[in-house]
Amino acid sequence: MGHHHHHHPPFEKNFYNEHEEITNLTPQQLIDLRHKLNLRVSGAAPPRPGSSFAHFGFDEQLMHQIRKSEYTQPTPIQCQGVPVALSGRDMIGIAKTGSGKTAAFIWPMLIHIMDQKELEPGDGPIAVIVCPTRELCQQIHAECKRFGKAYNLRSVAVYGGGSMWEQAKALQEGAEIVVCTPGRLIDHVKKKATNLQRVSYLVFDEADRMFDMGFEYQVRSIASHVRPDRQTLLFSATFRKKIEKLARDILIDPIRVVQGDIGEANEDVTQIVEILHSGPSKWNWLTRRLVEFTSSGSVLLFVTKKANAEELANNLKQEGHNLGLLHGDMDQSERNKVISDFKKKDIPVLVATDVAARGLDIPSIKTVINYDVARDIDTHTHRIGRTGRAGEKGVAYTLLTPKDSNFAGDLVRNLEGANQHVSKELLDLAMQNAWFRKSRFKGG
Ligand code: AMP
Repeated sequence: MGHHHHHHPPFEKNFYNEHEEITNLTPQQLIDLRHKLNLRVSGAAPPRPGSSFAHFGFDEQLMHQIRKSEYTQPTPIQCQGVPVALSGRDMIGIAKTGSGKTAAFIWPMLIHIMDQKELEPGDGPIAVIVCPTRELCQQIHAECKRFGKAYNLRSVAVYGGGSMWEQAKALQEGAEIVVCTPGRLIDHVKKKATNLQRVSYLVFDEADRMFDMGFEYQVRSIASHVRPDRQTLLFSATFRKKIEKLARDILIDPIRVVQGDIGEANEDVTQIVEILHSGPSKWNWLTRRLVEFTSSGSVLLFVTKKANAEELANNLKQEGHNLGLLHGDMDQSERNKVISDFKKKDIPVLVATDVAARGLDIPSIKTVINYDVARDIDTHTHRIGRTGRAGEKGVAYTLLTPKDSNFAGDLVRNLEGANQHVSKELLDLAMQNAWFRKSRFKGG
């Protein structure tokens, strides 16, 4: 697919008016409602869930189709997912098949489509739903047709194994909705049977399965060929590292909705961000707090460069601290010795670089300190994952100085994704970065 740099006319994506019954919920009632629905929600300014169809403000045509399907009340993922999607926000939905997630993205999609300019001959779809298999494609397509009837919207399914020619013909006749497997959609775009110029609502369903099937490249390619200010929804049964990374790359300030008891990484780690001045502040902070940290368990201190790790270790030794040093240039026997001493708690503090700390699995680590910020957010996630292991609680401190404003933006999103507190100071620092400021969700 070639890259096109078209000018995209602006479009509306917020169609949500919170129902007054929901607006009137007290903070405690809101907590109780999410608890009852078994929902965990994180991200910047997430909308409140609804608890009945009346709260979604759907019109009579759509409600008619919903009643015909004999749905009496929304499922939990719909209760929270519909307000998120209808208000135009990007979303990560962690929910299983059977949860009703398909309708959660289809209903807002229909309303989104109805607000866009009508398709003209030669136009591609307004909504694209990408999923891993032919069967899922057919199922989602069937639901699109069922609910799309409310507004006479057309859906086309294109998947590997089906006839290229028939699919191309259906695409060329025009459809507001295309449900597809990734490779096949790309084939059709390459052959110019359709195009992605008008896509403003993009869904990736069962993203983890698409990755397992080796479609990561195709998934990313599709995302990069759709206008960047589109609305994107990503559904997955798990939220592994690779999915988390995809979400960071293709979504903007997403709301994360986790339904059910799907395991959540790292809510056992409390993250605390300290914003300090440049100069000796980091050193002063560390020496003031270190004894307190060691009294509650082992401490792992991250420094980015080997030379700085050595320097910090030496300075701490001079202050009388008992510690070990671990960096990539040590030979295996030296490393094993240090790691084993640290494990046995003979040394309470370990100063390490990122390479050296790969895979360290030591349950006694109660505190991680990012003395220098990680070079990227993946590395950060890896670092803080060294604590909070085996169900134990841990605390991760990250020391930031004014020059870390680029990293601050990534950190804000990382904290929001893990349901952690974001201080005003941190947000202010992040806002100094132009890219973050521009991409930040505005409103609330
Ligand atoms: P899904 O998780 O999207 O595959 O949906 C699982 C099944 O639940 C499908 O057969 C849907 O038709 C059905 N379903 C979706 N929403 C509702 C609802 N609100 N009430 C009852 N059934 C529903």
